[in-house]
Amino acid sequence: MSLSVCILPGDGIGPEVTASAVRVLQQVCENAGTSLETASQPFGGAAIDTTGEPLPPATLEACKAADGVLLGAVGGPQYDAAARAGAPRPEQGLLALRQEMGLFANLRPSRLFPTLEGASPLREKIVRGTDILVVRELTGGLYFGDRREGDEEALDTLPYSRAEIERVAWTAFEAARGRRGKLCSVDKANVLASSRLWRKVIDDVSADFPEVEVKHVLVDAMAMHLVTRPSSFDVVVTENLFGDILSDELSAVVGSIGLAPSASLGAPDTPGVFEPIHGSAPDIAGTGKANPIGTILSAAMLLRFAAGMEDAAKSIEDAVETVLREGLRPFDLGGTAGTEDVTAAILKAL
Ligand code: ATP
Ligand code: MG
Repeated sequence: MSLSVCILPGDGIGPEVTASAVRVLQQVCENAGTSLETASQPFGGAAIDTTGEPLPPATLEACKAADGVLLGAVGGPQYDAAARAGAPRPEQGLLALRQEMGLFANLRPSRLFPTLEGASPLREKIVRGTDILVVRELTGGLYFGDRREGDEEALDTLPYSRAEIERVAWTAFEAARGRRGKLCSVDKANVLASSRLWRKVIDDVSADFPEVEVKHVLVDAMAMHLVTRPSSFDVVVTENLFGDILSDELSAVVGSIGLAPSASLGAPDTPGVFEPIHGSAPDIAGTGKANPIGTILSAAMLLRFAAGMEDAAKSIEDAVETVLREGLRPFDLGGTAGTEDVTAAILKAL
């Protein structure tokens, strides 16, 4: 078997954490007898520097031609400053990539490694057993609505069509059916018209999944529930921005943002994009302190979803669990293990 992966290192700590994940991919593919082909493409701020645009056409073509895409992170203060003077933003490349590849569902698992119960800011008895899959709608909602920007007035809109809600609902219901059979749909239906449509469509789709128990929760209440009773949730499906915010919150609940992976998926025959949920962390770029585990676990999701290599994916997840159980702690978990220490330990465990 062979697997081709397009690597988009991006900015900040992106190149550091993707380099680690590629080494892990090489090792597990070698163990599995799969020939792995990787090629890096410019993306984000790094691509603005060399080509003037955050998603060059050649990069998009390479992504579409690959079996899967492994992405680091984009953005940084120098690009924010340039954008105020009219330059494109690295984040525009990320939104364009998601839209061009039709990646409407963003899967963000947050599972508490039992060995990290003490690392959560929450009491152990509250956080124990937490294992949530957030399904964040990724190509609609507030991120893709009409926008008008002025010095006296600005506008963002939150549009959704029935079809857009339906397809992400299907992804979430199918995931719930394969897990513990519980789906929590998060919205703001007491205020937003788009949320009332969201609720209606979720209820309509639920007719096809009688075995899945559905609850609707308002996003403000959900922010509270995630710190008071996180272990009571299974699959959570929600709007683009709500999902972004709640999954950052959840990543802290189960330990640290540096651990959390994600998969962005579209239609069954299109390649997905796999990336850690964290950003480019410019404050620690170049220091060797970045935790590569979120990217390494994203590579595991790539093997699972893009190549059907379930055993290889599991072997990476087991190796991560092993090194944490043996006491390895990256900086973001209060330890002293740098990017290289963490990578070497995981390679050894494999
Ligand atoms: P984005 O808008 O792209 O999501 P952000 O503004 O949310 O980015 P991050 O780049 O995710 O910000 O960084 C938030 C904080 O978490 C920073 O202090 C950063 O150093 C830390 N952080 C993020 N990723 C990691 C990592 N892999 N290892 C260690 N610390 C990290
Ligand atoms: Mg963020």
